Amino acid sequence: MLNAALDKARAGQRLSRTDALALYTEAPTHVLGRLADAARARRHPDRVVTYIIDRNVNYTNVCVARCNFCAFYREVGASEGYVLGFDEIFRKIDETIAVGGGQLLLQGGHNPDLPISWYEDLFRAVKSRYPDFKLHALSPPEVLHISRMAQLPVPAVIDRLIAAGLDSIPGGGAEILVDRVRKLLHCYGKATADEWLGVMRHAHMAGLRTTATMMYGTVETLEERLEHMFRLRDLQDETGGFTAFITWSFQPDHTELGRDHGVTQEATGIDYLRTLATARLVLDNFDNLQSSWVTQGGKVGQLSLLFGANDMGSVMIEENVVRAAGAAYCMDELEIVRNVEDAGFAAKRRNMHYEILGDPIFRERDVPRMLSLAKARAEGDTHVPAELLNYEARSRAGRAARGQ
Ligand code: SF4
Repeated sequence: MLNAALDKARAGQRLSRTDALALYTEAPTHVLGRLADAARARRHPDRVVTYIIDRNVNYTNVCVARCNFCAFYREVGASEGYVLGFDEIFRKIDETIAVGGGQLLLQGGHNPDLPISWYEDLFRAVKSRYPDFKLHALSPPEVLHISRMAQLPVPAVIDRLIAAGLDSIPGGGAEILVDRVRKLLHCYGKATADEWLGVMRHAHMAGLRTTATMMYGTVETLEERLEHMFRLRDLQDETGGFTAFITWSFQPDHTELGRDHGVTQEATGIDYLRTLATARLVLDNFDNLQSSWVTQGGKVGQLSLLFGANDMGSVMIEENVVRAAGAAYCMDELEIVRNVEDAGFAAKRRNMHYEILGDPIFRERDVPRMLSLAKARAEGDTHVPAELLNYEARSRAGRAARGQ
C-alpha cells in the first residue's frame, strides 16, 4: 500500500484516500517532506516564497457561538466584550499603510448586536477613505451568522457585502469539515461542514477568491483530517476559487476543551510538518500553502518551507485569537525575510491574489520595526463607539448599553 502511494506521489499523480492515509501514517517524515517539497517545486520552480503585509483585526470579541476550542470570545454583556469603532479601525489601517500594508484581515465573533448595515457602513467608510485598501473579511460562519440575523439567503448577503467593499473571504471557521468533529467542538451550530463549503461555493460563484484553513489536533482522527482535505479538493475542482490552504494546530490554553475535556496537549512540530506535507500532496489543485509560524513558531515556520509551504502568510502586526489561547509568536517583515532567505528562497511581497508586488519593502524605504504584537484594544478600554448607537441591538444587554 505504502509503496504504491509513494510511486503515485513521486509521479505527481492524484492521491486517493487510501494513498493519503498510507503516506500520512507510514511514510518516514523526511520522505514525506521530500515528496511535498518536490510537489511545491513543480508548482513554484522559481524558489520564490511570498508573504503579505496586512493586519489581522478582530472587530468584536462578543460571540454567541461558544466554540469550546476558543479562548477569544466573550459572552454578550460581558465586561470584557468590545466592538471596535470605525475610528479605531481607521487608525489601524493608517498604521498598516505606514509599514507597507494594503489589506485588513477582518474577522470577529458572532455578535447579535451588529446588523448587516453595520458591516456595510464600515466597508463603505473604509473604501471611501482608502479606495485602494483591500478588505479580506468575514469567514463563512460570520457570513452565515449575518445571513441568519438579516433573514437573507447567503448569496444575497455576499452580494450586498461585495457592493459595500468586500474583496475576498478568509477561510476561518473550517476547523475540521466533518460534522462528527464539529458537534464535539460545539461549532456544528455556527456552520455544518456543508454550510461552510456552501458559503465558499457561493463566494467563488460571485467572483471572490477565498482561502481555506484547517485546525487540527483536537478530537479528530487522522482519517477525518484527510476527509477535510478531500472535501476542499473536491470544491476546488468545482470552482477553482481557493487561493491558498493554511493549517495550524489547536492551541489549548484557556479553552473549555483544554480545561474541561482534557485536550491539554498541543500537537508537536513533527505532527505539523507531516500534516502540512500531506496536505501539499493531497491538495494537488491548490497553488499555495502557507506556513503557520504564528502558531508553530518561527523555526518550525521556516522548516515548513521544506515540507510543502511556499508562503509565509502575513507579517504579524496584531493578533488576538491564538494569543488568547497561548501562542504569541511575532515576526516583522525583516524577520520573515531573514528566515525565508536563510532557507534558500527569494522573499517577495504579494497581495491576496498571490500577485507579486515586489521585493521586501524595508529594502526600498525605512519602515518602523514591529517587534511586539498590537492588540485589538488597550487593556481596560471599555468605551462604546458613538456610531454603535445608530444600530439596533438585538440582545437585552446590547439594548441596555445603547439606551434602546
Ligand atoms: S471561534 Fe469564532 S465563532 Fe467560535 S466562539 Fe470563537 S469567536 Fe465565536
